Amino acid sequence: MATSDQSTFLPLCEPCIQGNEWSYVKECLDTAWVSSVGRFVDKFERVVADYVGAKYAVAVVNGTAAIHAALVTMGVEPGDEVLCSDLTFVATANAIRHAGAHPVLIDAEEQHWQLDISLLEQFAQERCQLSEQGLRNHNTGRMIRAIVPVHVLGGAVDMSRLNEWARKWNVAVVEDAAEALGADYLGRRLGTWGDMGCFSFNGNKVITSGGGGVIVTDDEQLAKKAKHLTTTAKEPGGEYIHTEVAFNYRLPNVLAAIGCAQMELLDQFVDRKREAAARYSEAFRSLDGITLWDAPSDVSATYWLHTIRVNAQKFGCSARQLMAHLGDQKIQCRPLWQPMHLSPAHKSCESILTGVSAQLYDECLSIPSSVSLTSSQLDRVTDAIASCPAEIRHRNAA
Ligand SMILES: *Cc1c(COP(=O)(O)O)cnc(C)c1O
Repeated sequence: MATSDQSTFLPLCEPCIQGNEWSYVKECLDTAWVSSVGRFVDKFERVVADYVGAKYAVAVVNGTAAIHAALVTMGVEPGDEVLCSDLTFVATANAIRHAGAHPVLIDAEEQHWQLDISLLEQFAQERCQLSEQGLRNHNTGRMIRAIVPVHVLGGAVDMSRLNEWARKWNVAVVEDAAEALGADYLGRRLGTWGDMGCFSFNGNKVITSGGGGVIVTDDEQLAKKAKHLTTTAKEPGGEYIHTEVAFNYRLPNVLAAIGCAQMELLDQFVDRKREAAARYSEAFRSLDGITLWDAPSDVSATYWLHTIRVNAQKFGCSARQLMAHLGDQKIQCRPLWQPMHLSPAHKSCESILTGVSAQLYDECLSIPSSVSLTSSQLDRVTDAIASCPAEIRHRNAA
């Protein structure tokens, strides 16, 4: 295979299908168990729960649905407020809005780009008030029912400090661990620190079920409620009795089958991501102005997307210029997400800002991150990055 071929397109992050996917899917097709129930749905829930060390898991149709259903399960109601990371994929804020609630966006910290907990503490202290009903936002008069910390790039929000904050102010914690399946913090899996944790199995995540999500929790009542709400709130038995207006968020068996096969590969894939991160990091050591995102030593990250921060002054070109240069060489890169406070979809939300997420949006670039990246492909990326400033100087001189 011509993996070192400079002319082939190198995608940002593609799925890696190399285990029992075919045989499990074939079983679904051969038996016609393709739809909303089946042995792979049950198995997928068991396997994910066991892997992260949670008591219960509920499989759903995607990560967004997982967050939405978890918020409703935690009692978030229309008109409530829910705090979340400003620097995140749009799904987090969308899920809050789907619940009829108002996101309040909290900026990122400078070092590891996770939700800034000092800012959160300051916000609660100065701008909220704890009443008998819970935490109230002075500004809006609305109740703050929950917080959704996002483990950006499969690193970790400081969950011990965040949980302490949440207990003090009586706020439910729903972790958005979409990028962090396989990561742990202080030896405990991410997604199991909050009241409920949410994972995504979209095609660009560390592993995939084609599309899918899982909610985990240690609380039996919450698990039952989440299962009920995501399966149309149907009473057991043959009749169509539904106890409330709920959701059809069930994960099809045929997708759960892919998810089961991918779960068998998860540890191996995370190892490869970590190896690639080490390789990239080594290569960038000699490049002034380029720093690779990393997590602190008490976090074992997934390195979901390898992401660099470009200091344009030192490096000699900006992140956007670098992205265009790499694009010319068929190397796919992406900026980080537009922060929610700048997103046309969510810019009307209240936001607590320091300017960090906006700066990260300008300066950061995710570079090829597939689990299947070969050594020569890694070299191709790092060589292409290293050659960018000279290329731009050359072009400007011409
Ligand atoms: C991928 C992702 C989601 C949503 O997952 P889907 O399965 O695509 O709905 C949510 N939050 C974050 C941070 C993500 O990266």
